[in-house]
Amino acid sequence: MADQLRFDGRVAIVTGAGAGLGREYAMLLASRGAKVVVNDLGGTHSGEGASTRAADVVVNEIKANGGEAVADYNSVVDGDKVVDTAIKAYGRVDIIINNAGILRDRSIAKISEQDWNLVHDVHLKGSFKVTQAAWPYMKKQNYGRIIMTSSNSGMYGNFGQANYSAAKMGLVGLANTVAIEGAKNNIHCNVILPTAASRMTEGILPDMLFNELKPKLIAPVVVYMCHESCDENGTYIESAAGWATKVHSVRGKGTVLRTSIEQDSISLEAVQKAWGKVTDMSEAKHLNAIGEASGYLLEVLEKLKEGG
Ligand code: NAD
Repeated sequence: MADQLRFDGRVAIVTGAGAGLGREYAMLLASRGAKVVVNDLGGTHSGEGASTRAADVVVNEIKANGGEAVADYNSVVDGDKVVDTAIKAYGRVDIIINNAGILRDRSIAKISEQDWNLVHDVHLKGSFKVTQAAWPYMKKQNYGRIIMTSSNSGMYGNFGQANYSAAKMGLVGLANTVAIEGAKNNIHCNVILPTAASRMTEGILPDMLFNELKPKLIAPVVVYMCHESCDENGTYIESAAGWATKVHSVRGKGTVLRTSIEQDSISLEAVQKAWGKVTDMSEAKHLNAIGEASGYLLEVLEKLKEGG
């Protein structure tokens, strides 16, 4: 017990906590002493309808295990109301796991504007709204741990999920900047890319894989990133089936397409000729900040000025 990672005194909001991954995050946090806001709209997996049942069941389960939790039935789009529930019940908010999600899978030709908007509203706008509403509290207390939920469907693409993929990569961009803006106030923001058996993946993943992808095997990875002892910030973690790894983007060395600083145009043919070097990733490396990207450009320009 003494060396257990504990969350006593911490208040966590887990969105979409009435089922799947969110339920496991909420249960684990509560079992380690956190007071948990179990948010869930309780609709279908495509975002239709609403019900209090999903959140209530998880709150009752947490309480039956001796934990503390309160239900919140708002859509994450009303992020201020979700955060209000935490403030009214417990007076603070330390942890947000932005997890609520829906699917409206269609190929690009068939996505309606409604399918596009609803998926973006729940995943991207919802995560923004909840995070923004909690921001003043986290800033004031100089502490916060935020998780954004992305997906391999965004990272690599997946047939029939253009709306979902776009929203999920939007969350990576959101996390990148939230991590930078929160750093000075000890507010960390990290990203989870999970693969888990849930109603979202039922019938999509092969049975053998589905049975091994228990959401409870991902929960400790996500909940660890919400602990005060975890220094990680702005990191993407992929996890499934009791396995986890860091993921990051890399940039190639590239090549200069101009021969001198005086040359103010580049021919299409020059691009064609250099394409192998433009796309060569043999010397690729990860950049830690936007300044490194612009710093490298300045170096390129300096060299051009020096004639080389
Ligand atoms: P799930 O359907 O079991 O859980 C999602 C929960 O979010 C549901 O209980 C649902 O009622 C709730 N929800 C939906 N819209 C809401 C809204 N507007 N406000 C509040 N709650 C809302 O699915 P899951 O697999 O546990 O997915 C959790 C998250 O993980 C989602 O963001 C999903 O996109 C992401 N994800 C899942 C997988 C996977 O393999 N399961 C892979 C990549 C990403």
